[in-house]
Amino acid sequence: TAAAVEELITPPVQVNHTKLLINGQFVDSASGKTFPTLDPRTGEVIANVAEGDLEDVNCAVAAARKAFDEGPWPKMSAYVSLIALSLVCLLISLYLYYVFCFDAAQFVKYEFLEERSRIMLKFADLVEKHNDEIAALETWDNGKPYLQAAQAEVPSFVRLFRYYAGWADKIHGLTIPADGPHHVQTLHEPIGVAGQIIPWNFPLLMMAWKVGPALACGNTIVLKTAEQTPLTALYVANLFHEAGLPPGVLNIVSGFGPTAGAALASHMDVDKLAFTGSTETGQTVLQLAAKSNLKPVTLELGGKSPFIICEDADVDHAVELAHFALFFNQGQCCCAGSRTYVHERVYDEFVEKAKARAMRRVVGDPFKKGVEQGPQIDSEQFKKILRYIREGRDSSATLECGGDRIGSKGYFIQPTVFSNVKEDMSIAQDEIFGPVQCVFKFKDIGEVIKRANNTRYGLAAGVFTKNIDTANTLTRGLRAGTVWINCYDIFDAGIPFGGYKMSGMGREKGIYSLNNYLQVKAVVTPLKNP
Ligand code: ADP
Repeated sequence: TAAAVEELITPPVQVNHTKLLINGQFVDSASGKTFPTLDPRTGEVIANVAEGDLEDVNCAVAAARKAFDEGPWPKMSAYVSLIALSLVCLLISLYLYYVFCFDAAQFVKYEFLEERSRIMLKFADLVEKHNDEIAALETWDNGKPYLQAAQAEVPSFVRLFRYYAGWADKIHGLTIPADGPHHVQTLHEPIGVAGQIIPWNFPLLMMAWKVGPALACGNTIVLKTAEQTPLTALYVANLFHEAGLPPGVLNIVSGFGPTAGAALASHMDVDKLAFTGSTETGQTVLQLAAKSNLKPVTLELGGKSPFIICEDADVDHAVELAHFALFFNQGQCCCAGSRTYVHERVYDEFVEKAKARAMRRVVGDPFKKGVEQGPQIDSEQFKKILRYIREGRDSSATLECGGDRIGSKGYFIQPTVFSNVKEDMSIAQDEIFGPVQCVFKFKDIGEVIKRANNTRYGLAAGVFTKNIDTANTLTRGLRAGTVWINCYDIFDAGIPFGGYKMSGMGREKGIYSLNNYLQVKAVVTPLKNP
């Protein structure tokens, strides 16, 4: 209702951290330069943030290297509260040695992996405690609805860290039978210094997907946040140190892609690179990684995901889900269901209702209750989306609703629906990354599988049907890293996420992400000494 929409939610929020985080300290950039981060509601400056470049990346990598090589993080064997415990063990062992000639000194060397998870759990508790402030900062910097940040994204961030905290002491190798008199085992070791580059659409969640598994495996990190949204990562990193994270384990360099990002991707002392962003930039960072030190790379890139509504669909439900699949987060999701395929038998009814739903979508100040859609992230994205809408209008597709900006300030765009979309149009091929739904008509399942797969992308797909055979046929036929059946955008911590084809390489989240951050060492020992 209008009254509900009017109510402003104003959690206390201020910007406390704008500097780079290197070796546990907030520092200015080497050049002294800063850049503004803007409020997408108005285009006004929220804060000026230290701008990292090559020299800062070098310092951050050196700090991460030292924290990795000298510990304690990778082994977490001698950390604070454990020093006392170690001393007690040492005294007891000396006493036992003295009395029984018993070498108990080995106990002193125990690796307390549990300490790593304890710090991650404590961090999760602290983030939970500051849930509303962090969500407000995320909304301010990014423009997403406050309640979405507060009720879904920050809790999901916390969940991710708790999930990976649980892995920290459960990572181990195998004992492998081998021909000949040899004992063979594998050690799963942390890979070293991880470079991580994240985008602006889910600043906190993208941080969690990368930092969580890397830390659980015992790595140290240099994180390059997106230039549009540097604030929340710095806020939570401060809480990480409050939780007891040793200095240098998590370093954060705010800054731009071609400078700070490229320096990280091509650094000779970074052992692994994880990137989320556009396919084009993914190709660039993969090249930089290959040309420098061949660091392994995981990429989570763009998409043009099909959402397929079959003839047996409950149309009202399908409309709601397809609407959510596309418009969620202002349409700024790599896995947005941006090609809505509708069976010809339900097509007309669907289009009518999808249009009505889009026209009902509440766009406005993301801090207001009841608002479903805030502004797009920045003027570049805003202009790009309006350009695609123009191209759609100039094509033979039908503009059902929307098609323009809202107001004259900030980056608000009307929820837009095109019907009668054909595969060769730019709005059907390219990732628009905005609130623009494209509806296609199809006749049969074999045909829709071919059309859905006819793209360079393969990130996700949605299937809407009550028929298990149809669901199975589509699930097996679609070339995508995730298939959601009768649901969309379900992202629990344990579910792997990643792309086929040019949507990326590797998987994040769940058990699958651990492999990205581990080296396997084979250790071979003769069973009998010669
Ligand atoms: P978008 O177009 O959605 O902003 P990008 O792929 O350009 O997506 O950005 C995602 C992340 O990649 C951001 O952190 C950005 O700064 C970074 N980035 C952009 N260009 C480069 C580059 N040449 N090298 C390394 N990182 C980059």
